Amino acid sequence: MLIKTAEFVCSNTRVDLLPAPTLPEYAFIGRSNVGKSSLINAMTRKKGLAKTSQKPGKTQLINHFVINSNWYLVDLPGYGFAQTSKKNRADWERFIRKYLRQRENLQCVFVLIDSRHEPQKIDLDFCCWLGEEGIPFMLVFTKADKQSGVKSDQNIAHFRRALLKWFEEIPPHFLTSAETKIGTEDILKTIDEININ
Ligand code: GDP
Repeated sequence: MLIKTAEFVCSNTRVDLLPAPTLPEYAFIGRSNVGKSSLINAMTRKKGLAKTSQKPGKTQLINHFVINSNWYLVDLPGYGFAQTSKKNRADWERFIRKYLRQRENLQCVFVLIDSRHEPQKIDLDFCCWLGEEGIPFMLVFTKADKQSGVKSDQNIAHFRRALLKWFEEIPPHFLTSAETKIGTEDILKTIDEININ
């Protein structure tokens, strides 16, 4: 997919104030620091589009961007920051789960996972919850440039194996890097295919 335009639309703290669900929507989510903002910027080739390295405790926002006037890219607040307060965490739970359950134009959630690590419970639990809710998702392993391909492949295989406890069919995955941009075109191609069908 050629990105002709990528524009910020709005930031929201309330699900009832989101833009009208008139375009297909794709949401990106993961642990804080997983590389979500960097990946969104690499994918859209627009450096400052998503704000990188947000501090924990900052207002949690659902950010909408419109791509090629054709689909929404949604940057969801990261989960699992150790330093965040209990209240922040509870707010996140309520807000994001409500969005994910209710957003009628949501086509797919891209769950970002740091390819350097062994499977983390918080990521597995989140995928499991998406599965239980019947929300379509795919896995995006980030920061591939930070270690060998062999190591990334091992961690991906571990993660997929861990999911087999809950899922008969494991969703597709992408191995990406915001530095080298590998994998970014594959994600866009997948979005294109879903949009066409
Ligand atoms: P977010 O909190 O998930 O939005 O994470 P950021 O995009 O802000 O990235 C967190 C940190 O990881 C920053 O220091 C980024 O420069 C770094 N980072 C993100 N993606 C990559 C990547 O693909 N490769 C490398 N080497 N560093 C990355």
